[in-house]
Amino acid sequence: MMKKIIQQLTNSSRVLLASHANPDGDAIGSLLALGIALERLGQAVTLYNESAIPAVYRFLPSVDRIQKQLADPERFDTAVMLDCGGLDRVGSAVEAIAAIPTIVNIDHHATNTRFGQYHLVDVDACATSEIVYRLIQSMGLEMNLAMATAIYTGILTDTGSFRFSNTNRAAFSICEAMVAVGVKPSTVAQHVYGTYSLGRIKLLNLALDSIEISHNGSLSIMTVTREMLSDTGTQPEDADGLINYARRIQDVKVAALIHELENGNGVSKRRKRFHVSLRSDGSVDVSRIASNFGGGGHTAAAGFSVESSLAELKKTIYNLSEGLGGKCHLN
Ligand code: 5GP
Ligand code: MN
Repeated sequence: MMKKIIQQLTNSSRVLLASHANPDGDAIGSLLALGIALERLGQAVTLYNESAIPAVYRFLPSVDRIQKQLADPERFDTAVMLDCGGLDRVGSAVEAIAAIPTIVNIDHHATNTRFGQYHLVDVDACATSEIVYRLIQSMGLEMNLAMATAIYTGILTDTGSFRFSNTNRAAFSICEAMVAVGVKPSTVAQHVYGTYSLGRIKLLNLALDSIEISHNGSLSIMTVTREMLSDTGTQPEDADGLINYARRIQDVKVAALIHELENGNGVSKRRKRFHVSLRSDGSVDVSRIASNFGGGGHTAAAGFSVESSLAELKKTIYNLSEGLGGKCHLN
């Protein structure tokens, strides 16, 4: 499949590369690494993500190449979708992209819908950046510092700094190879984890204070409202990683972060739009829970969006905790 995809990409005259809205380090890293690689092969590429790039990732080489607007989508003959479990994860451009003649789906999510004509979906890969690394290897292309920094950042962030259950041998061997190319782990860590705005730290305080626990202690809920963001002068991206605090509480098997979305008022005033992030200790498959709500993800990290009132949503999430007592599994 890799050879076929490389053939398709090198035979295309205009290639669009895109990753999921509200991107994380892997969505940005895999997009940049493959974009730079194809460009070095002489391809005309356009890099697209509908959201602003979070401040902590703006140090990445060539990050300014990522466009927020998708002009004239009909000029592309091939679209490469990175880190998207479903085509809709790309956001508002989904229909324009669906009309591009050839779609290549490169991803590592267990819930990947296998959209597109070419699939490079490896659910055992620690990150989409691992798959992109292998693709660049089979192109016979020499790694440069820009690609290496992007791949290293993708793997570092998606494995939670080599702590999450998706951390595999490849995470270490690829990152070691990226360090050999010249990536400085302390520099990347300083950008990604060591340069928070004061507002972000204040938001952490509010988010920690919002934590509630189910009566059996197995489920925690953290809430980040629009009001908390405006009170602290922060952006939605500043909530990235906060859920890990709710997850690491003793006896908690599932943690949920309820994130109120912008302009989220629904049909009635009480109903709003929320994104719910789920994390588990590995004993519960949260991707199945998220799929039941129209979302998806991995066993230990998944998410979905809903329209609801906050009280109703909390009740729905608390109901999940009933199956979590003792050592039994959900579903
Ligand atoms: P997060 O909670 O950080 O937004 O996402 C956790 C994992 O679940 C990520 O791998 C992400 O791609 C996936 N995910 C989050 N929200 C959704 C969603 O609405 N649909 C799908 N298919 N996957 C999601
Ligand atoms: Mn991602």
